[in-house]
Amino acid sequence: MTPKAPYVARLVALTSALLLASCAMVPPSFPAGEACLADGFAIEDDFVAARRGTCTVLPDDSVSLRIPAEFSGKINPSPWFAFKVIPNGASQAVIDLTYTRHSHRYWPKVSSDGLNWNQLDERYVTVADDGKSARVVVPLESEPVWIAAQEIISPAVHDAWNQKMSAAIGASLSVLGESKAGLPIHIIDTNPGGENILFLVGRQHPPEVSGAIAFFAFGEIVFGDSELAREFRDRFRVIAIPMLNPDGIVGGHWRLNLGGIDLNRDWGPFEQPETALVGELLDKLDAADARIRMFVDFHSTNKNVFYTQFDVTDPPAFTTRWLSAAAPRISDYPFGKETRPITNYTVAKNYMFKRYGIPAVTFEVGDETDRSAAKAAARVFAEELMRTMLQQEY
Ligand SMILES: [Zn+2]
Repeated sequence: MTPKAPYVARLVALTSALLLASCAMVPPSFPAGEACLADGFAIEDDFVAARRGTCTVLPDDSVSLRIPAEFSGKINPSPWFAFKVIPNGASQAVIDLTYTRHSHRYWPKVSSDGLNWNQLDERYVTVADDGKSARVVVPLESEPVWIAAQEIISPAVHDAWNQKMSAAIGASLSVLGESKAGLPIHIIDTNPGGENILFLVGRQHPPEVSGAIAFFAFGEIVFGDSELAREFRDRFRVIAIPMLNPDGIVGGHWRLNLGGIDLNRDWGPFEQPETALVGELLDKLDAADARIRMFVDFHSTNKNVFYTQFDVTDPPAFTTRWLSAAAPRISDYPFGKETRPITNYTVAKNYMFKRYGIPAVTFEVGDETDRSAAKAAARVFAEELMRTMLQQEY
């Protein structure tokens, strides 16, 4: 034995001890898709629209979530999150939401069944001073609690709505085609073969749920049983594609489809399976001499606003007349109208205006706009849109 051996042995033992000690200090971390086990509760992400990211259990039994976008490149700042807290003895779960990119945006929503949602009470949410993260305290009893960036409106909810709407008025409900993952993209058509069309689109961007809520309220008026709606549908054909990006919704995406593309930047190229279906539909309508007269695409942003063209549309100033008619009837829903020069940006509203010259509008609802006010306003916008179209010679 050389003189050095005992020293080496002691060094090895010391290093092992240090390693063990430092391992004991590394908080346990659970990758996305694996239940995150804290003392007294677990956090799961095993449901439609879930997005939790890596979950780290800290020594004080709070947990930190590191929520990633679906795509590692540049992406719109819509940091969606959705997870389920499973109680196991604790009276509350303290959860820090951090993001791989962008700041905290959505006020957390809470649900006891994954279907009915409320804003999480103010006393349970603390947004960091720099706006980058938020701490959420979730009171626990015995049942699971869902927490999400916005209400989860799954493809199943869309399917039920489509069936109810189309059945009530005898409209055609069919599968326009499939998403990249093979999920159905549905189309409601009140009068296949009809000539003058109101065209509605929704859910290009998965987290934009307040826009989907407005879409439902708007659609329930247009597909409703009022005298106005029946007169409207006698004269106009309504085509609706309520959910263009089912893969993004199911995957809890921040923005993109499964191909990693923002569908609302692919109108024109139509290179994605979902937008390609729209492109083919437009070509078919053109071939049948059907004319789209009005286009509305539902989204969410940080305020209630309609993005549209200057008054150079056919018919002229149509959107101005429509929104002016609606404004006096709407309260508790401040909204703006912003006109933008037409660019070659391959956004739906640009594309539809450039192809047809028609009024083409992005109907944006604020992320945190009161849902009742958003629904009430959407109903008025639907009624006044029908009236404005009915007043028009086409
Ligand atoms: Zn959007």
